[in-house]
Amino acid sequence: MSRTKVVPIPVMGRHTINAYLVLGRRPVIVDAGTPGSGRRIVEQVAAHGVDPADVSLIVVTHGHIDHFGSAAELHRLTGAPVAGHVADLGPFRAGRAREPYLPTGRMGRLMARRRELHVRVEPFEPGVLVTGETDLEDFGVAARIMPTPGHTAGSVSVLTGQGDLVAGDLVANALFGLVPGRPANPPFHDDPLQNLASLRRMLDMDPVRLHVGHGTPLDPDRVRRWAAREQRRLARLDAAGRIRARGPDEPAGRAGQAG
Ligand SMILES: [Zn+2]
Ligand SMILES: [Zn+2]
Repeated sequence: MSRTKVVPIPVMGRHTINAYLVLGRRPVIVDAGTPGSGRRIVEQVAAHGVDPADVSLIVVTHGHIDHFGSAAELHRLTGAPVAGHVADLGPFRAGRAREPYLPTGRMGRLMARRRELHVRVEPFEPGVLVTGETDLEDFGVAARIMPTPGHTAGSVSVLTGQGDLVAGDLVANALFGLVPGRPANPPFHDDPLQNLASLRRMLDMDPVRLHVGHGTPLDPDRVRRWAAREQRRLARLDAAGRIRARGPDEPAGRAGQAG
């Protein structure tokens, strides 16, 4: 198995919004940032000594626009196909996230009102449609795409042979990385219980580090302790009937609907 290395590509701030570069025999980009950040991502990829034309694949972790906003642009700039999970095909094709966003707490309730979360971005059609665990050896990296549903139905993570887990929004840093290294929920989860089950399943695979969409890398033991507390918190909320989750058949946000 060839060695793989995971390099953060800041899209906004130092680590407020991250994409990642996974380097093996060939480079793979994970996540495509907010709309209009394609050039910034490609410049940073080049700064790591990678010819953007060598990028073999762009993996989009899920159907939120801070992760797929520049997927179509990145595809044009690199020529690489975009991989996305079939369960988030609606948002990818519509160019907008499923609405409403379901807040995980106060931060999410505040953020859900922000206009930039409700814009329509350039849609894309995945050239690689992910339907289950997918080996990336053919794309030149010793890594697998792992379906990790819950944050959205089509959320995926990338687990390398070295044990690095590029986790998208499976977990985040408190306050978007203002508290580096402290695990927290991202502002929204479509299904918090399913997301936590996905997170625990990934932790059971003994990753050495979690690389997240929002914040600095997380230590798996610290995430385990946080996940155990979160499990108890969600169990209490669930017992009180206070967890709101999107059912599998709830329709996607209508295209053209006002923000
Ligand atoms: Zn998200
Ligand atoms: Zn995000």
